[in-house]
Amino acid sequence: MLHSLSDELLLSQVKALAGEERRIHREVLETLLEVDRRQLHLARGFSSLFVFCTDELGYSPASAQRRIASMRLLKEMSPPERERVQTKIETGTLTLNHLAQVQSVARSEQWGLETKREMLQSVEGKSVRQCEKILASQMTSPALPRETIRPVSATLSQVTLVLDEETLQLLERFKGLTAHRNPLATNAGAIRLALQIAVERVNPEREVRGKGSAKSESDTGASQSVPTPKAAAGHRDCRPHSSRNPSRPLRRSVWRRDRACQYVDPITGRHCNSRFKLELDHHVPFSKGGKTTTDNLRLLCRAHNAYFGGRIKPGRASVEKMWKLRPCTRAHLRGKKTH
Ligand SMILES: [Zn+2]
Repeated sequence: MLHSLSDELLLSQVKALAGEERRIHREVLETLLEVDRRQLHLARGFSSLFVFCTDELGYSPASAQRRIASMRLLKEMSPPERERVQTKIETGTLTLNHLAQVQSVARSEQWGLETKREMLQSVEGKSVRQCEKILASQMTSPALPRETIRPVSATLSQVTLVLDEETLQLLERFKGLTAHRNPLATNAGAIRLALQIAVERVNPEREVRGKGSAKSESDTGASQSVPTPKAAAGHRDCRPHSSRNPSRPLRRSVWRRDRACQYVDPITGRHCNSRFKLELDHHVPFSKGGKTTTDNLRLLCRAHNAYFGGRIKPGRASVEKMWKLRPCTRAHLRGKKTH
């Protein structure tokens, strides 16, 4: 079909499609703004808007990042100003790349909206490279290359990151201290060993043996209390607590059972399963008579904990009503007979 078009018609068609694409970009940003305002990505079981954009909408990580950064910049603007910028996106003088780059640099440079506005004016109509140059000229610190992880085989990946001098010295020191376990003294071997040790140290699921290791468990960020000596003594403290703060054995029991965010979208059944920034949460809030027991505690990622906690309002009531522990969790509880 296309090969039969004249050159003029073909060029006319591709220009019309590019214009349509820009109009769609504008609409995608408007729609994302509304999704974000309603926090629908959380309601549907995604731990962040980024995960929603990649997993549900099928964007690549870079495309998702561009759209979200652009949307966040628009979100800061008043409706009339937002309308003006969106019109420029539609006409092509401003692109998602312009907005995302300004927003990204503004974040590292801590620019306010006024500076972002000036930068948007400066980069309007400019190419990607020109935009990068203009923004780089305004930066007080050098633009660092992005961290990347690129698969190079089925089991290996190449990681690019920038380390400061102190971290490099720590790496060398660690390699020296652990040379008996990493004879070739490779950076990859040292990082693997360091991460194994670090994960073991901060993992809330682990058993605590002795006073020395007791302190490290409270470093995880998942901990909500400083455990009493009695609590550290044994599994008897899995019993219900009158305190809001669970004992270490109780906390460990919930971590071992859940291991990931337990939020399930009541509509689609999607299980969040995020393991990022996990927090212990009372299913029935402690302030409303909820007990500090295994079956009233659950792990939630920070985003869903905030969602349930009422800090993000829309949809909360219906989601709370539909909340259910998974069948396997109930079986686990029966087996443990902790309550
Ligand atoms: Zn979650």
